Amino acid sequence: MFEQLKTLPQDPILGLMKTFREDPRTDKVDLGVGVYRDEAGATPIMAAVATAQERLLATETTKAYIGPAGAEGFNRLIGQLLLGGNHPALKDGRVNVVQTPGGCGALRMAAEFLKLCKADTTVWVSTPTWANHIPLLGGAGLSIREYPYLDKATLSVDFDAMMACLEQADAGDVVLLHGCCHNPSGADLDADQWSAITDLVERKGLLPFIDIAYQGLGEGLDQDALGVRLMAERLPEVIVASSCSKNFGLYRERTGALMLISANAQQGLAATSQLLSAIRSHYSMPPSHGAAVVEMILDTPELMQQWQQELGAMCSRILELRAALSQALAPAGDFSFIERQRGMFSFLGISPQQVQILREEFGIYMLDSSRINIAGLSATTLPQVATALQEVLGR
Ligand code: PMP
Repeated sequence: MFEQLKTLPQDPILGLMKTFREDPRTDKVDLGVGVYRDEAGATPIMAAVATAQERLLATETTKAYIGPAGAEGFNRLIGQLLLGGNHPALKDGRVNVVQTPGGCGALRMAAEFLKLCKADTTVWVSTPTWANHIPLLGGAGLSIREYPYLDKATLSVDFDAMMACLEQADAGDVVLLHGCCHNPSGADLDADQWSAITDLVERKGLLPFIDIAYQGLGEGLDQDALGVRLMAERLPEVIVASSCSKNFGLYRERTGALMLISANAQQGLAATSQLLSAIRSHYSMPPSHGAAVVEMILDTPELMQQWQQELGAMCSRILELRAALSQALAPAGDFSFIERQRGMFSFLGISPQQVQILREEFGIYMLDSSRINIAGLSATTLPQVATALQEVLGR
């Protein structure tokens, strides 16, 4: 059976990481990586997470199965984190949350759920979008269509083009939106744009599907959830995939959640029963550890405060690096979009050839698309990157 299989080409990001590791230069800079880095270039375990893990080890009494929905406490607290404690959808019993293996698990199970709602569902994704969206959703059998999102000249949201394109969507089509910190562009929708897209979705009978993988890393926990909260209040149905990988630093623990906002409590129960059945036939149930850690943090005031402080510091570091990079690049051109954008990623807007020169001559690594991880910069490497970029742009 296996003899007919061909070896697939290596994933470009993994290939880039390998070349970086093998580069002997000591002043090389990795801006390609997709995880948060601190000033020292590390991705440490957050202190609140470390404490919660210790307490968990000391107190947990069983490793018995947790069931397809995961931990009830985690699900309740994630619902509150996404919506805020007093959201009307919570009061109306329209919210159901299930724990998933990371944000990827939530995205894939949302796609499986959508197929149960309607076998030939079409999902509209932004151009560009996170590289894994299309395999995760398309792999489940959904039809993918794209809407324009980023104006390549200004690297800001081309909102008119996005809205004009979504006018062509049919009732029942799904629109995938990034809740905050758009990956890969960093260009986010503002409050007025969220409101306008909510109007469009309502008028045309579309279903919004919000992927929020960076809550707390854009501007703050509440500000970053503005779109989710607005849509959950104004629309009968919303799907939200959330991830604890970045904001709790739990990447390898595979911790995420899928939230269904339904028209009413009864429809929510029916929908959740279908979702749970799909989960059982895919991976049976999610891993427990990461979600247990998150639940303990969100449920313990002192750990919650510590986590919010640590997350706030990560968020501030990214905002400061954004401002400093925009400024350092000012002599080379208008890079003010970097300061206006949010989250870990931005495009530099340079050509693949210029990306290659930066890599080969200067040891500065980024994706061919020129997407950089802002958190990969530090006080030492930022001027180094700015100088190299100015030189390359000046050639
Ligand atoms: N959505 C987006 C936009 C992401 O960038 C990521 C992480 N790179 C995820 C979802 C899911 O991440 P995970 O499965 O690791 O939680």
